Amino acid sequence: MTRYVYDFTDGNKDLKDLLGGKGANLAEMTLMGLPVPPGFTVTTEACRAYLRTGTMPAGLLTEVQHHLRLMQNRMGKTFGDAADPLLLSVRSGAKFSMPGMMETILDIGLNDASVVGLGRQSADQRFAWDSYRRLIQMFGKTVFDVPGEAFEEELTAARSIAGVATDPELGTTQLQDLVHAYKKVFHQHTGRDFPQAPHEQLFLAIAAVFRSWNAERAILYRRQERIPQDLGTAVNVMAMVFGNRGENSGTGVAFTRDPATGRRGVYGDYLRNAQGEDVVAGIRNAVPLAELAAIDPASHRQLLSIMQRLEQRYRDLCDIEFTIENGRLWMLQTRVGKRTPAAAFVIAAQLVDEGRITLHEALQRVTGEQLAQLMFPSFDTTAAPPPLTTGVPASPGASVGAIVFDSAAAVAATEPVILVRRETNPDDLPGMIAAQGILTSRGGKTSHAAVVARGMGKTCVCGTEELRIDGDGLTVAGRTLHAGDIISIDGTTGNVYPGSVAVRPSAVVRYFEGELAAHGDPLLSAVERLMAHADHQARLDVHANADTAVDATRARRFGATGVGLCRTEHMFLGDRRRLVERLILAEDDAARSEALQALLPLQRADFEELFAAMDGLPVTVRLIDPPLHEFLPPLEELTARVAHAEALGVDPGHDGTLLTAVRRMHEQNPMLGLRGVRLGLVIPGLFAMQVRAIAQAAAARVAAGGDPQPEIMVPLVGAVQELETVRAEAESVLASVPGAPPIRLGTMIEVPRAALTAGQIAGVAEFFSFGTNDLTQMTWGFSRDDVEGAFFGRYLELGIFSVSPFESIDRDGVGELVSTAVQRGRAIRPDLTIGVCGEHGGDPASVRFFHDAGLDYVSCSPFRVPIARLEAGRAASAAAGSDSR
Ligand code: PEP
Ligand code: MG
Repeated sequence: MTRYVYDFTDGNKDLKDLLGGKGANLAEMTLMGLPVPPGFTVTTEACRAYLRTGTMPAGLLTEVQHHLRLMQNRMGKTFGDAADPLLLSVRSGAKFSMPGMMETILDIGLNDASVVGLGRQSADQRFAWDSYRRLIQMFGKTVFDVPGEAFEEELTAARSIAGVATDPELGTTQLQDLVHAYKKVFHQHTGRDFPQAPHEQLFLAIAAVFRSWNAERAILYRRQERIPQDLGTAVNVMAMVFGNRGENSGTGVAFTRDPATGRRGVYGDYLRNAQGEDVVAGIRNAVPLAELAAIDPASHRQLLSIMQRLEQRYRDLCDIEFTIENGRLWMLQTRVGKRTPAAAFVIAAQLVDEGRITLHEALQRVTGEQLAQLMFPSFDTTAAPPPLTTGVPASPGASVGAIVFDSAAAVAATEPVILVRRETNPDDLPGMIAAQGILTSRGGKTSHAAVVARGMGKTCVCGTEELRIDGDGLTVAGRTLHAGDIISIDGTTGNVYPGSVAVRPSAVVRYFEGELAAHGDPLLSAVERLMAHADHQARLDVHANADTAVDATRARRFGATGVGLCRTEHMFLGDRRRLVERLILAEDDAARSEALQALLPLQRADFEELFAAMDGLPVTVRLIDPPLHEFLPPLEELTARVAHAEALGVDPGHDGTLLTAVRRMHEQNPMLGLRGVRLGLVIPGLFAMQVRAIAQAAAARVAAGGDPQPEIMVPLVGAVQELETVRAEAESVLASVPGAPPIRLGTMIEVPRAALTAGQIAGVAEFFSFGTNDLTQMTWGFSRDDVEGAFFGRYLELGIFSVSPFESIDRDGVGELVSTAVQRGRAIRPDLTIGVCGEHGGDPASVRFFHDAGLDYVSCSPFRVPIARLEAGRAASAAAGSDSR
């Protein structure tokens, strides 16, 4: 029979699939002999079974009861006992951390009788009644969907009747009245009394945590974080310990290093006389962890030593939640902690220095996405006004936007917005995703806003206590701002500026540009070191998509070792458009050849510059690709101009000729029409002119002592015969240019038929480059220009895919075509060079795929070159099996 329940003494940190992250780590801490309250974990398998069938799997409740008995024996207390009750917490814990997304219920086991016992036992009536009212509130909300506000209203009313400002000031009698009021609220919304039987409470709570896996906000979070939707959550049932038993008690969250910068030294918040959820939710302002040293030196010392042991065990930054009950420290949670991208790099390098991990492992601890985030700009404050105020810098970045005060407004906004809230809770998630940045007035670095924003790489400033937010206005430093007013928030310093502050490039970008030295800067040194190791490990080369010498030079500074795609059509824009017009309108060979002759020297000059910029490195020049009418004015515009001329009775002249040409060339589906290789086959001399320009430019570079390495690439080939024709013509042109170096000719693979007939094509092509933009378009039948804005939102919502296939390679479909073409191409020509130059070449997940598929290089926009380099290194070192995490 399947086993659904594991005691904390049974598991370890490697059982995350089954026990969830929290459960596996609680077991690990138990194994290490740390002070963890006794408890057990109900497995993710039980959750999946429950979600599948809607009922608890057979045997689960018996197992729970068995483990509960073990706990009771260990604690010497009985669950829900009227005289001295054992109380339980029930918490979700999936394989991947989903902060605040799912449910927690505390104080399970309290009822009308045991509340009295707890009060007597703890000699603290107030504490007992406060715990009871918390249970009814959490249980009502979580298990029976009673709206949270219904309880909040009663709480506010209780404070105002008592004439006090905060909850801790409410006395025992007032809390007893509040329990009474809460029970009424419970009954009103559920039609039943608050359950008094402890076991019923427990079973209902476990089921509610299971169900919370499918809460809307949890689904949304997983989609964002690309966490599979079918994992399910484990449920951790633990003996309650209390941080709200007076000034000798409290609760806190801590990190073994600063999760924002990576700086060494423990870091955290402590909240006296409070229950765990208060600090995590950022509802009350906490004190820095260092102050615990004065409040409770023994617990502080013990905590520091535990944190050190945890770092040693996990060989990484850990974050923890702890509670102190009457001077006794309890560990409630630990995990490898989330961190900002900067901290990820800094900590990885530090751990190498400290001898805890190898460089290989360090490389696995940073990602291309994180590097991408570090390449975001920051504020140029030289001309900025003084900040209005400064909050806690919770998630770095520089964001400018119009103020919105609620999540819905952020979602509805069409311009960039900053979501301004007193504090955030999981219901704000859609707004946090939509906003450029998040600003809150309460909560520290471990508040919900901070943790979630860091996870999303979004700018966040929190705990900005000087902000007074009411309704649709905020007041700070004597100024009132309203919804729609522009502010700028700096997640690195915590500064909040009025208006729009100029933004400057990131230090990491300036380092790649060669403007900043890495030496002496912890982040830049870490980036330098890990990039060097990535380059050393990588099997994939990284080329850039660059059409000009300026772009190519930048790409080279960023570490590109070639140009993988020069789109020559971009050389025909601006003034040159008229020459292309002449080519298209040419009515005979003479006119056409004249137009081509005019284009030739311009193309040659472009290529010479490009080859000079990339001297010694391959430059793959793609022959012209897009439908020619893209170079002509739009049909509607011409029609209007001609109609206007005719209405005035004047000759439309050139416009008339153009209109005829545009009408003649009009296509219903131009992306599937006369473009790519088809143009070269239909317009005599067009490809020959380009090939000649390439060869002449290369010859000129050789003559000047350079080392040009051009390659000629034919787009949109679907049949080997197309390529044969182009090749024959190109070879004769190349042979006619004196002094040109050898120039390889290859093809893009961007039509599914080309991928399927790659064996034939490889007989004629010296290299392949996957055009995954077109390949995706044609494999899915999705128009690249239309669908993303039109219906991808719905597709993402429905989970048909979790990320646009134009952004990240669709492994199952397009990826299969890639693998097929690689295999068939190399079967015929083993030394076939194969690359990719679609947008996917710079997407971290896709780079991993291309590595696995055996490509030689990826080519991407210059800005993404470092990201691709890092991922190429990570892919190689992961494939070498050196990731020991
Ligand atoms: C491609 O299709 O992936 C490609 C690189 O070509 P383009 O985007 O220019 O069509
Ligand atoms: Mg293409």
